[in-house]
Amino acid sequence: MGLSSYEDMPDHLHDYLRFFRDLGIEEVYLPKAVRDRIVGKSQSAGSASSMSTTSSRLARVPKPTAVLPTPPLPDKPTVAESQRSHSGERSAIPLEVLQEIQGDIGECTRCGLHEGRNKIVFGSGQPDAKLVFVGEGPGADEDAQGLPFVGRAGKLLTEMINNTAQREGIPISRGDVYICNVVKCRPPGNRNPEPGEMKTCGQFLERQLLAIRPKAICVLGGTAAKYLLRPTQGITRIRGQWHEWHGIPVMPTYHPSFLLRPYAQDKKREAWLDLRAALHYVYD
Ligand code: SF4
Repeated sequence: MGLSSYEDMPDHLHDYLRFFRDLGIEEVYLPKAVRDRIVGKSQSAGSASSMSTTSSRLARVPKPTAVLPTPPLPDKPTVAESQRSHSGERSAIPLEVLQEIQGDIGECTRCGLHEGRNKIVFGSGQPDAKLVFVGEGPGADEDAQGLPFVGRAGKLLTEMINNTAQREGIPISRGDVYICNVVKCRPPGNRNPEPGEMKTCGQFLERQLLAIRPKAICVLGGTAAKYLLRPTQGITRIRGQWHEWHGIPVMPTYHPSFLLRPYAQDKKREAWLDLRAALHYVYD
């Protein structure tokens, strides 16, 4: 079969490549025999003639499908938001500011992700939360319900927050934090959002974070971390260490959907350690 698009792949290959992407690896080596099996002998032979010896031994992790031309309507923060973000103070009225931002999103068509969405997933939780979790984008369950982290990964995130807080004697639960994503519409096939999509939609995330101005942010997964922190290394290297975004401490850790994969079970402990550090920093 061909690999003309990310969605055409068998699930196991899709998961396999996502695993490497999560780790921040852009290219993977595929032996010719494997490549032939995946791509199909005829396509492999045809394309091999046009590739260098080196590049024929490297299969690039497939890029997501192209974004539609992006209508550039970058919404600027309101004057009130700007004043608050520059003063470095938490907003006195974060709920109203969040509602204003949600109103600005409206029935957004600013990037191609609007085409396949059912519901825009703005975010949920306490508008004045001290801790905000940021993922990369909604999945199928979130798209159906219009709420972030309500599928299997969301259940794991809830367990992680509730259980870790309980074990550490910190009197909070998921309902006390705020949860949102970089992009507000579901990328097709659960692919990662593209940089252009994150750039277009990320303005809303940034306004949300500046409105809430939490004591800390916990960024979930390599894709969201890449957007917020622009790291030079992958999530396995940067997780567990404090970073900073506009003066707000940021703890990067693994995305719960990554932790659900069978090959990533040994990463759960690291994620729990990261979360524990974030909870103690915010609530002690
Ligand atoms: Fe608009 Fe964001 Fe949805 Fe793109 S992902 S259509 S920018 S709300």
